[in-house]
Formats: sequence, C-alpha cells, structure tokens
Amino acid sequence: MEELKKQLCPFCNKKTLTLRESTKEIPSFGKAFLFSLECSSCNAKQSDIELEKKEPSKYTLTVKTEKDLQIKIARSTTATLKFPNFRLKIEPGPSAEGSITNIESILEKFYNILEQQRDSSEDKDERKKAKNLLKKLWKAKTGSLNFKITLEDPNGNSAILSDKAEVKKL
Ligand SMILES: [Zn+2]
Repeated sequence: MEELKKQLCPFCNKKTLTLRESTKEIPSFGKAFLFSLECSSCNAKQSDIELEKKEPSKYTLTVKTEKDLQIKIARSTTATLKFPNFRLKIEPGPSAEGSITNIESILEKFYNILEQQRDSSEDKDERKKAKNLLKKLWKAKTGSLNFKITLEDPNGNSAILSDKAEVKKL
C-alpha cells in the first residue's frame, strides 16, 4: 500500500493520521481501490473499498465445495452480507470495514465470535445456540455443507468475485 502524508485525525486532532491507498486489478471485474486510515496516537482505524465499475447489485452464491470457500468477496462499508442458512450477517455501520477476503476467512471470524459466546455467555440459551451453530459452521468450513451467501450494496462497491455468483441489478 502506498502511504500518503500524515493528516489531522478527526478523533484526537493530532497530525498522526496515515492514509494508505492501493489499487488491485481483479480479472473480469476491473480495478478495486482500497483505502485505509490509521492514527498512531489514538489507534482510530477505518478502511473501505471502491470498485471501478459501480453497479448496485445483489449477488447470490451457493457454496458447494471446499474450493468455493476460496472465492473472494469485495465488501465495502455500505454492503450487507448475509449467510441465511446460519442467520448470520454483516451490516453497514460504524464498525464496518471494507475489504477483499475469501469466504473461508469470513466464516473463521464468525466462528471465533461464536466460540467466545459458547464459552463465556451468561445466558444458557445463548451458549446452547452458539454451540449448535458452531457445529453447522464447522461443516461449512470443511466443505461438507452447502450454504447460501447474499451480498447487497446500494452504492455498487461490493461484489462476489466469481462467475458462479448470480447477479441481479438493484
Ligand atoms: Zn487520532
């Protein structure tokens, strides 16, 4: 990533905010521009992604094999990513991050959060729910369970980067 000169941080007002930018060429999707902001004083962090070809779309993909888990998803901070089979989703919000990651590592993140819930939640029902969902996610992570993914971005900066995905214009 290319580092640009330090800027004033909107959170702590010190001139210690670093803006980084990089461009990624994605075959048959064009360019993706990645941005990240990080302040070395207050640790504020933000990242986002913009696609060269902006087409507000809804992507749907059914993951059927272990290899499908390597399919990458470009997700901006305005995207909603859903795993309806597991009732899991990532929505736009202050903690949303834009990134390009594969499905496996997104499942991995959910898995870690659910493991914490299973081990440390005060609520017995919540622990049980987490435990059951972990079993399903384990199957999903090892490619022995088919599951669906949907991705919607009204600004058109998100995409499932595979021709196996179905695309509908929004
Ligand atoms: Zn700061």
